[in-house]
Amino acid sequence: MGWRIVVELGLVIGCLPWFLPGWLEMELLAEPAKEPREFRGKVVLISSILQHEGAALDQDAAPLWVGIVGDDGKLIPLVKDAGSRMFFKDERLRDRPVVLRGRLVGGEQFLQVLQAFTMIKGRRHEPFYWCDICKIKRFEPNACDCCGAPLEFREEPTDR
Ligand SMILES: [Zn+2]
Repeated sequence: MGWRIVVELGLVIGCLPWFLPGWLEMELLAEPAKEPREFRGKVVLISSILQHEGAALDQDAAPLWVGIVGDDGKLIPLVKDAGSRMFFKDERLRDRPVVLRGRLVGGEQFLQVLQAFTMIKGRRHEPFYWCDICKIKRFEPNACDCCGAPLEFREEPTDR
């Protein structure tokens, strides 16, 4: 390694901590966070669509691939996180009309769900899981994290 390369390498490494925050800032400016909007359709297991096209998912993967088929027929996979978890874990929420409020991420290929509503007789409802002992509301079907009792699935009309 010649002295010039060593010097140049030293410069690059030395500059990195100063250089990096500016670079990250530029990246963030280039990719602004998308505004949330509403997506109407039905949430489905993507395996149910793929199997008709001869692309069967592995059995262990199937429950992890969930998406919304919009009223326009377009399929958008959901990011599995706190906002969408109920659709992965509870089949009662799939294959029926819903409205998902969320934002497109990953090059606008995936939907991150921020709020979910079910449609019952044309009216918007909030789905949730209720502990009648602790009077607390949760957004995934578990045992109550406070008293351990099973949570009850509920859907209540909302104007949100
Ligand atoms: Zn409880």
